[in-house]
Amino acid sequence: MCLRMRASTSIRRRADFRLKGAWDGCCDVKSEREGTMARIEVDERYCKGCGLCVDACPVNIVALDTSRINAKGYHPAYLTDQPACTACTSCATMCPDMAITVYR
Ligand code: SF4
Ligand code: SF4
Repeated sequence: MCLRMRASTSIRRRADFRLKGAWDGCCDVKSEREGTMARIEVDERYCKGCGLCVDACPVNIVALDTSRINAKGYHPAYLTDQPACTACTSCATMCPDMAITVYR
């Protein structure tokens, strides 16, 4: 399971940590690297369906899943086209609830 930093720091530092976590600090580092493809994971427990990540993605591959509702009663964000992800971290940086982890 990937490390998550829930302590509050600057947005940029949080995004850097989450990205770094996928490289260095995570027990799944090797398997993630072997996967070779950039991707994100949305922790639906924290997603409030605000859509900020949808607007932030420069390649438009994040959407809200209107067919599902999470435990909070929101449509959760999800990745629509994993091969197109560049691991730019824009979505994770914008998420106010730190629900997104970026892997590359
Ligand atoms: S990491 Fe970048 S390219 Fe990938 S889903 Fe997030 S905003 Fe889009
Ligand atoms: S920015 Fe975060 S809380 Fe908002 S929809 Fe995206 S993942 Fe969910």
